[in-house]
Amino acid sequence: MEQLLRDAAARSIRYLEGLAERRVHPDEATLAGLEALDGALPEEPRDPAVVLAELDEHGSPATVASAGPRYFGFVIGGVLPAPLAASWLANAWDQNAGMVAASPVAARLEEIALRWLVELLGLPAGTGGAFVTGATAANVCGLVAARHALLERAGWDVEAKGLFGAPELRVVVGEEVHLSVRKALGLVGLGRERVEQVPADEQGRLRAAELPALDERTILCLQAGNVNSGAFDPFEEVAARAREAGAWVHVDGAFGLWARASPELAPLARGLEHADSWCTDGHKWLNVPYDSGLAFVRRPEHLVAAMAGHAAYLSESEAREPWHTTPEMSRRARGVEVWAALRSLGRRGLAELLERCCALARRFATGARELGFEVRNDVVLNQVLVDLGGEEETAAALDHLQREGTFWAGGTRWRGAAPMRVSFSSWATGEEDVDRSLAVLARWREARDAAGRRPG
Ligand SMILES: *Cc1c(COP(=O)(O)O)cnc(C)c1O
Repeated sequence: MEQLLRDAAARSIRYLEGLAERRVHPDEATLAGLEALDGALPEEPRDPAVVLAELDEHGSPATVASAGPRYFGFVIGGVLPAPLAASWLANAWDQNAGMVAASPVAARLEEIALRWLVELLGLPAGTGGAFVTGATAANVCGLVAARHALLERAGWDVEAKGLFGAPELRVVVGEEVHLSVRKALGLVGLGRERVEQVPADEQGRLRAAELPALDERTILCLQAGNVNSGAFDPFEEVAARAREAGAWVHVDGAFGLWARASPELAPLARGLEHADSWCTDGHKWLNVPYDSGLAFVRRPEHLVAAMAGHAAYLSESEAREPWHTTPEMSRRARGVEVWAALRSLGRRGLAELLERCCALARRFATGARELGFEVRNDVVLNQVLVDLGGEEETAAALDHLQREGTFWAGGTRWRGAAPMRVSFSSWATGEEDVDRSLAVLARWREARDAAGRRPG
């Protein structure tokens, strides 16, 4: 065991040391090399050291260097040293974080991390939460709590009877609602399409003036951090008003909720504290290992009512039982990594990480404009949408840039355009990475212009 784990550590260190200089996305030949890991189901045992060597030799080069400094795709985040190391240790612990009885340490670390997060994000005192796989699952947690609360008030026990014959609930979403909220609505029986949709403005923010009248049978889903533009819904205008009407306000803040942890960015999310439930991701901007999502519920008893269960063989303590807050029973100890990230960064370190990413986004936007490209969004957070000269030209550029390998960004559709979508969410990215990436963009532009096409 010892030799094997030392070997794993050495290989991991070598991998991480190579991240900054290797190509960001694996090329076709490297991906073809994954064949070596295939073959018939092994009949006989094999030396674990050989298994690890195979995995490293063929698997490591085929990874996407999203933990490295120049991965700007989606909103992925890197991995900070403390939570990575804590994750290694926690894997050795092999704790089942579902029950206090199965892992007092995992349960305790969740409680501590949760308390810190509620304070850091400025959520109401007494807010409870759950450690789940990602923001999609965290959206499910928020919505089942909402479903329980609104139907309980209407005299309906939804956990016992389901939605058959239940009083109807309304769901109001912004036009730019994330697909994971729609998916979660489908999973909890409220329907992906059976929603009232409020138009959005040019940055993707729900238009407060067009919000329909809300009532005590309505769930209003708002968004902190539009997945394309990074924009925030106008919480201050709508959240308190919605709660006064008796509606349940749920916020998808998969990456944008973290703005609350920075004095500089927090004004973007002002008023968000008036909501009833929130979700965010640890694996994105907090830079903990995959997977790690967080759900928060103002009145945790609504979440517990939906998630808890009882069985004679399961001990139940007076303490917060983790599995009474999540869809899962058994699961890994995600709280360990969240605790380690917060313990190592501190309030100031996290604020600096968030603000640095936003400064890098502005730097990229400025550089792109200087190269003659149009930036399609107000760069308020960590997202930049760059039009590289129309839909076809942008698609061709992305194809070239992704193959070139210095950095990786994807495309999207946004308000009638099809720009490159560049996202900054890794602690590992520095100004030099932005500049190196812009230099590649400049060379592509020169080559394009030299080829006789119209300059951007
Ligand atoms: C990433 C994202 C999600 C989904 O999060 P997962 O962790 O992938 O489940 C939901 N909403 C927004 C705004 C996101 O950016």
